[in-house]
Amino acid sequence: MQAWILTHPAPVSQQPLRRVELPRPQPGPGQVLVRMRVCGICRTDLHVAEGELPQRRPDIIPGHQVVGEVVELGPEDTAGLRLGQRVGVAWLHSADGGCRFCRTGRENLCERAEFTGWSVPGGYAEFLLARAAFVYPLPDELGDAQAAPLLCAGIIGYRSLRLCGLGDAQGGRWAGVRLGIYGFGAAGHLAIQIARARGAEVYVCTRDHVRHQALAAELGAAWVGNATAPPPVPLDAAIMFAPAGELVPAALRALDRGGALVLGGIHMSLIPPLNYDWLYGERLIRSVANNTRADGREFLAEAARARVRTRVREFPFTEANQALQALKDDAIAGAGVLRAP
Ligand SMILES: [Zn+2]
Ligand SMILES: [Zn+2]
Repeated sequence: MQAWILTHPAPVSQQPLRRVELPRPQPGPGQVLVRMRVCGICRTDLHVAEGELPQRRPDIIPGHQVVGEVVELGPEDTAGLRLGQRVGVAWLHSADGGCRFCRTGRENLCERAEFTGWSVPGGYAEFLLARAAFVYPLPDELGDAQAAPLLCAGIIGYRSLRLCGLGDAQGGRWAGVRLGIYGFGAAGHLAIQIARARGAEVYVCTRDHVRHQALAAELGAAWVGNATAPPPVPLDAAIMFAPAGELVPAALRALDRGGALVLGGIHMSLIPPLNYDWLYGERLIRSVANNTRADGREFLAEAARARVRTRVREFPFTEANQALQALKDDAIAGAGVLRAP
């Protein structure tokens, strides 16, 4: 099979991914073999390729937003999946099920979790292995390319929205709550659609790139401004998808008392010193790490109900390095995906 591998992390301008021919993998117990149709491009792939995340395995195949079909079932339990079934393969490859996090509904924090495209081979390839119990059957309404970005950008946005605690003080109602979104790429353009469907007012702060600001306005943002511009009203919560620690002070200062700032990325540049006055008033900063399968299932159901539309730019399989470069340059409106060869 054709696959992209990362041998030595390097800036994407140096094209660190290499296209190679590899044997098609064989599913083991509890695994399925999935033929990739489309694989979403995530900022995490960029962090892996450039070495901002430590290498977990040599010659890793990146990619963890795979839409494909089950073409082979391994022995033992394969969670009722059928041959030919269309499924999604996401970032959480597996969790051990036995640690104190798994036992308390927090498998996203599992101490022995494996991750697609980081610690096990991912979706920048014609085929990949997945744990059947961690695969998402996909609703028919969603096209392959539209569905792929939901599998990480969408689910992480969903979990970030949950961790905002919005609605907790309003009996679960989101109507009229004020949410800020910092960074408006794949995750931001999906999270805004869920938040708007719930009734929130959304304030989008993003680097002054015409296409991001235009897409935010089109998707119903109440206000769109530059990354460090203060929104016109104090925010009840904010989510930062931009991996830019230097924006944390601005986001914190935009929060109303009691508000939460949720950091949605897996990596972030250094956060400058914070003035305690910005945090005082029971403001909160927290990160989001991975997601549980329950997050994934709930999000896919809500996305279908809310008729979430993914803005997608497709890249041919041969252009994996170029796709990562485009992501790095903020040159993709919405989400980028790689099409199978
Ligand atoms: Zn665990
Ligand atoms: Zn991702």
